[in-house]
Amino acid sequence: MKIHEYQAKQILAKYGVPVPRGSVAYSVDEATQVADDLATEVCVVKAQIHAGGRGKGGGVKVSKGMDAVSENAEAILGMQLVTHQTVPQGQKVKQLLVEEGIDIRKELYCSVLVDRGRQCVVLLASTEGGMDIEEVAEKTPEKILKVFVDPAVGLRSYQANELAFGLKIDAINPKLIRPAAAVFMALYETFMQEDCSLLEINPLVLTGDGRVIALDAKLAFDDNAMYRHKDNLALRDTDEEDPLEVEASEADLNYIKLDGSIGCMVNGAGLAMGTMDMIKLAGGEPANFLDVGGAANQENVEKAFRIITMDPNVKCILDQYIWWNCSMRHGCRRCNCCFQKC
Ligand code: ADP
Ligand code: MG
Repeated sequence: MKIHEYQAKQILAKYGVPVPRGSVAYSVDEATQVADDLATEVCVVKAQIHAGGRGKGGGVKVSKGMDAVSENAEAILGMQLVTHQTVPQGQKVKQLLVEEGIDIRKELYCSVLVDRGRQCVVLLASTEGGMDIEEVAEKTPEKILKVFVDPAVGLRSYQANELAFGLKIDAINPKLIRPAAAVFMALYETFMQEDCSLLEINPLVLTGDGRVIALDAKLAFDDNAMYRHKDNLALRDTDEEDPLEVEASEADLNYIKLDGSIGCMVNGAGLAMGTMDMIKLAGGEPANFLDVGGAANQENVEKAFRIITMDPNVKCILDQYIWWNCSMRHGCRRCNCCFQKC
């Protein structure tokens, strides 16, 4: 589950990560009110959507003075913001973050995620902050530093220090090594305590007045751990999600919309992946991933059919079921003999 930047910053602040002062606004009047309360010369008006690349798309505007705040808020609220992470028609902006303008000396990149291959949490960091990190990874992978965390001991302070030195922060301001290392520790703590699947700060900035600040924040929670964080459920914004996916999640279906024309009606995530591979191999494009679940009943299957057929791109449906629980038929579960007979 993804959340907005302003929500992520509120969580980060609880763990001691410095973030700019600011607040969410749902109208131009609220935006100017927030700017007034901030009482700062420069404000930044930022579109709140669940996608990055907002700056390039015109969704982040540095605003000097109240007139500029109100003009920019007017321009951004309600716009269809198109970025490399949105659908082609863009995402409608319904809320803004108005925050203080920060005097940026250096933009860095930092993220925390799970390295599935190594089965541990990894911290990624780069001196190339504020940019498209995928491009950095592709063209100059040596500019991405990695710290793997042993799950038994967690992130050690020497690793956080190493990261700070690796980013050559001492060359910019030696006094910032300690606060930067503290930020890395706090990011790791947030990631673990809140059961995140992704925590990305791009950019993490060193300021002219000697501070380390998370200027942007992208946070996604691990859906499988949401039961441990009931409070975080309130942060969900279904307006930002695909309507078909929202409907599917309400029906407890594991559905992800894709761009193809062949609907997939499958039980079991592995079989669903295999079915999509099969379609690709035959030159087709799947319209969705769908796992109706091992214990799917008539009602789930009917809902799933409704959701698949609501997608206007779907031209046909490929149906594949494995009868996981054949106990009523053959007295055994998940065995090959059942699979063949059923
Ligand atoms: P996105 O990644 O979606 O484009 P960011 O929050 O990273 O959005 O903002 C884009 C750029 O705007 C940043 O790299 C930074 O240069 C500038 N920026 C964002 N917030 C502020 C701020 N509070 N003060 C000064 N500059 C900012
Ligand atoms: Mg950013």
